[in-house]
Amino acid sequence: MAAVPVYRWRLAPDGLATRRQLRALGLRPGGQDVAAQVERPRRRRGPLVAYLYSIEQAKPVRPMTPAKRAALAKANAARRTCPACRRDAGYVIPPSLGMCATCAFPDQQRAA
Ligand SMILES: [Zn+2]
Repeated sequence: MAAVPVYRWRLAPDGLATRRQLRALGLRPGGQDVAAQVERPRRRRGPLVAYLYSIEQAKPVRPMTPAKRAALAKANAARRTCPACRRDAGYVIPPSLGMCATCAFPDQQRAA
């Protein structure tokens, strides 16, 4: 890879953004090369490096494909399924409980 300009943290020129910043704008690098990098010095370690991309050359985030949407729905359904009763709880099972509220608090459900 060709050498890219290196800037001090927060001193990068306008028009450049990190991948995360692009994402916040609904953009992605879109195959462009890294335009520059910024380095944040750290004590006793190598500097923290972030890669910058040109906002002008960035492309909109790819719309979700049906396959991707289906995979996501499946993953979400799995996260909503209670491992104890195998039912779709209708919400994501809290990791702290590890099961749906009905299974975790059977007494309270009966009282309600
Ligand atoms: Zn359950």
